[in-house]
Amino acid sequence: MRYSQTFLPTLKENPADAEVVSHRLMLRAGFIRKLTAGIYSYLPFGLAAIRKVEQIVREEMDRAGAQELLMPMVQPADLWQESGRYEKYGPELLRFVDRHQRESCLGPTHEEVITDIARKSLHSYRDLPVNLYQVQTKFRDEVRPRFGLMRGREFIMKDAYSFDVDDAAAEVSYMKMHAAYKRIFTRCGLDFRAVQADSGAIGGSFSHEFMVLAATGEDTIVYCRQCDYAANTEKALVRAPIPAANPVPAEMVRLETPGKRKVATVCAHLGITPDRLVKTMVYRADDQLVAVLLRGDREVEEVKVKNLLGVADLALAGEEEVFAATGVATGYLGPVGLSLRLVADQEVAAMDSFHAGANEKNFHLANVNLARDCRAEAVADLRRITVDDPCPACGGSLGMAEGIEVGHIFKLGTGYSQAMNATFQDRDGQQRHFVMGCYGIGVSRVVAAAIEQNHDDDGIIFPVPIAPRTVILLALGQDEGIATAADELYQQLLAAGIEVLYDDRDERPGLKFKDADLLGIPYRVTVGKNFTARGTVEIRRRRDGQSQELAPAEAVALLQQSIQAELNR
Ligand code: ATP
Ligand code: MG
Repeated sequence: MRYSQTFLPTLKENPADAEVVSHRLMLRAGFIRKLTAGIYSYLPFGLAAIRKVEQIVREEMDRAGAQELLMPMVQPADLWQESGRYEKYGPELLRFVDRHQRESCLGPTHEEVITDIARKSLHSYRDLPVNLYQVQTKFRDEVRPRFGLMRGREFIMKDAYSFDVDDAAAEVSYMKMHAAYKRIFTRCGLDFRAVQADSGAIGGSFSHEFMVLAATGEDTIVYCRQCDYAANTEKALVRAPIPAANPVPAEMVRLETPGKRKVATVCAHLGITPDRLVKTMVYRADDQLVAVLLRGDREVEEVKVKNLLGVADLALAGEEEVFAATGVATGYLGPVGLSLRLVADQEVAAMDSFHAGANEKNFHLANVNLARDCRAEAVADLRRITVDDPCPACGGSLGMAEGIEVGHIFKLGTGYSQAMNATFQDRDGQQRHFVMGCYGIGVSRVVAAAIEQNHDDDGIIFPVPIAPRTVILLALGQDEGIATAADELYQQLLAAGIEVLYDDRDERPGLKFKDADLLGIPYRVTVGKNFTARGTVEIRRRRDGQSQELAPAEAVALLQQSIQAELNR
């Protein structure tokens, strides 16, 4: 492919509205273009990278015994009503009515459709196990689409669904997918970790997220330095604290704290450390206000609060809204006599006494005890784990890293098959519900995540297996001999099966080098002055800038070898 004939609309300037590296670089390199919020066109090079990921995904899914199909994107609402998700899914599900007034939606995921296929077409235990997958465009009307392909409204996903006769068989299917996912992300050349996505609540080991490690990741993962525990912090259970030795505190005391509203200033004023102060944070949970009690030095883990309350939406309530409901100015809110629903982190329950807001402007209370003085409807693990907590599995010490979720595998059990009455006939003639699993990979997000993990100031550094092209060939200068040699080398590279972008443009060397770096093509081959002088070309590796002078034929052989080595991971 000749650069002069390639649609690669690179940009010189950084696009103004791109907040993260992958978004910025994909726009600049001419890989994607935004159509509207969260919806992008994939231009040829962007698509080429996506196709590489898809190819690896397909090979590994097939190898694991899954079979590809393709389901419709438009889905009838009644299927979603059957599963009970038409109400539950919330506004991420884009709903519309067709010309016959039939309610429909755009598929954000396909459990309903696949379960419908299974109940109509899988009849006997002899038909099982089955694992079916597709690579398809999904639509989720994300509240805040952002970061380019990282969180789009329209995006490409590989989703697979397994059907088994019982739990034990479903676990085998699950482990196969776990292994396949490890191969997929290894083959993509990514540094990743499989982490528990649900530790404890339903047994622990049957939901994993695959995280690409990158400083810019939206997720934080926590891992143990001693055992193999690793989890999304959203789900990492904090070990319950040992209750205080002396559970009966002295009488409550009202203390003046004029103008002190923040944890730090209240503590400084009272001469206490933040672990002695309990903060009262008010959330809007669906349509109710709920106060969450937490030690002053801790952070709320909103996912835990959401799960505890069983709500779909959770967000911090605004100051005015809180004042309207309680009559208390922010900063002085506290759990004693509070007129809101109240839940407490387990750590607060284990404190014999603490300081808290007095529900009165300019006052706090000392010697508050949760059981004695407050009416909490629940005590639970509601805070975010920290590196100073012990490992939830073994008590060892923890580390943390930022990650991007690129895949998620989940043992579903019989939830969908029961709701939608999807059964098969068992060995003993009985009708049983399918035991299901589902397995997603954000194909377009993988490309963005790869860039987040692999880039430098000059541009993208693609891992070989997912690079849109593996070699960029530059001809420098107007010299006849150079042009002829570059043309020849181009033909040799093509003949060797190497995917090469030939920069034959009549441009300055500096600009060609810049573009080559921006595009992130793993190997750059330059035919220039040294060819005229010594008959050699230069191979330079994008990742570390290492370069080598070689005769053209040797260059082809070396490239072939190096590329193959990286594809065979
Ligand atoms: P997230 O927590 O990031 O919203 P999710 O839990 O909603 O992800 P799943 O429903 O498990 O995601 O979807 C499977 C995979 O699809 C995810 O692991 C992720 O890689 C990808 N994905 C999900 N939402 C998006 C999106 N809005 N844009 C791009 N990829 C996405
Ligand atoms: Mg989501």
